Amino acid sequence: MNLKVRKPPNDLAGSGWYEILPEPPPPEILDSTINADWVVIGGGFTGLTTARRLLENCPDDRIVVLDAQRIGWGAAGRNSGFMIDLPHDLQSKDYSGGTTRDRNQIKMNRFAIGYAKSMVNEYGLHSFMDTGGKINAATDVQGMNALRAYSEHLRELDESFEEYDAQVLKEITGIDYYAGGIHTPGCVQVQPAGYIRGIAQGLLQSSKNIKIYENSPITEIVSGETKRIKTPKGEVLSNRVVLAVNGHLESFGLFSKRLMHVFTYGSMTRQLSVDELNRLGGRDQWGITPAHPMGTTVRKVKEGRIVVRNVFTYNGNMETTKDQVSQTGKRHDKAFRNRFPMLKDVSMEYRWGGHLCLSLNSAPAFGEVEKGVFASGCQNGLGAVQGTLGGILIADLASGRDNPMIKSLIEPGEPAKLYPEPFMTIGAKMNLWWNHLRAGKDL
Ligand SMILES: Cc1cc2nc3c(=O)[nH]c(=O)nc-3n(C[C@H](O)[C@H](O)[C@H](O)COP(=O)(O)OP(=O)(O)OC[C@H]3O[C@@H](n4cnc5c(N)ncnc54)[C@H](O)[C@@H]3O)c2cc1C
Repeated sequence: MNLKVRKPPNDLAGSGWYEILPEPPPPEILDSTINADWVVIGGGFTGLTTARRLLENCPDDRIVVLDAQRIGWGAAGRNSGFMIDLPHDLQSKDYSGGTTRDRNQIKMNRFAIGYAKSMVNEYGLHSFMDTGGKINAATDVQGMNALRAYSEHLRELDESFEEYDAQVLKEITGIDYYAGGIHTPGCVQVQPAGYIRGIAQGLLQSSKNIKIYENSPITEIVSGETKRIKTPKGEVLSNRVVLAVNGHLESFGLFSKRLMHVFTYGSMTRQLSVDELNRLGGRDQWGITPAHPMGTTVRKVKEGRIVVRNVFTYNGNMETTKDQVSQTGKRHDKAFRNRFPMLKDVSMEYRWGGHLCLSLNSAPAFGEVEKGVFASGCQNGLGAVQGTLGGILIADLASGRDNPMIKSLIEPGEPAKLYPEPFMTIGAKMNLWWNHLRAGKDL
């Protein structure tokens, strides 16, 4: 069956992570007919990891990666950068799932983080990865209860962590907004756009068999033993295609009415002056996820800026609007002002939104969807680590490399069918509204 693409991605406004990097070299755009052994569509965590793993599995094969936008412009370059090893179920009250499921997930997440670290080492990307763990912090009684439940669960799982009181949190962050927190050492934090662009560059430098084309949206995959993967100006002929486009799988007509398209939003301050940094105090860099999954994520980065992320919106049409970005910006300003009263003159320099893909049963969209066409997407908001994992595993599945984790990944089955419209949209919006309200001071 031919797969005609209904909608290309259109991520608005560059994220701070992307904008603070040097201007990238001009994009190479596909403008002719070429042949390849593998085509990977999408150059985010999933697609670039797929390409790297294929390079390992089939070193002599020609691999072409195509992205509709610049590498790092999509969600992979606009997220908060937490690669989390421990359970982090955004659809739960305190991130936990069942014990057996969580043990398995931790094993797989750590395998993916290990793989990410190996890319950082090979491509010299250390300045884009901080391996100091992360803090899950609470602001009120409700949040402290969620932290307690989470730490109980970590004990059950035999996982090590450290409990911080308000004083320790003030020493680390310079602010006294948080009542308590849990530090977990296995999480790594990346500068997402720097990391993603660095991997693309590393792949290109490490092998002449890799080609990456940017600003080259796929418009159609014409089926056949040899498939024709078409862009507006060119096409690639290949027997095997991996779709690493996350929620845009639905644009290709796949997993239809099974994927929930959610956006979340970030803002980054201007660079703080030396005086402002001194006034704030605390460490050079730190990262906090909220005890309540709908709360605010905050990072202080070594470039002397603060990044906040909060608010989820349900956008079934896979697009956010300038208005939503600007409305959410007001929530970011409030979260920032509440936490950083000593920085009242500091404003946000960049604001953006980005696309996440979730399923009702938290299952990924993974597997061979047509002969020679493979898909890996829908990481339920945790694509930094699970996109990396999905990229490794889809490459292994497609190239016939035995990996027992494939079975674990597909165990939950395929993403469950969504409720019929308009109930799905109304239900999702009500659910988000209620959960944002419950996040209280954590928001
Ligand atoms: C503000 C924000 C904060 C987040 N924080 C975190 C976090 O801290 N930790 C975490 O794990 N996750 C986080 N996420 C989620 C994470 O960013 C995503 O889950 C992750 O980017 C998914 O990776 P991916 O490679 O599968 O997909 P994407 O990053 O979406 O990459 C898919 C690529 O496919 C391309 N594409 C789509 N359609 C086509 C087409 N027709 N032709 C060619 N190319 C196409 C897109 O341009 C895109 O570059 C956050 C997301 C946002 C927006």
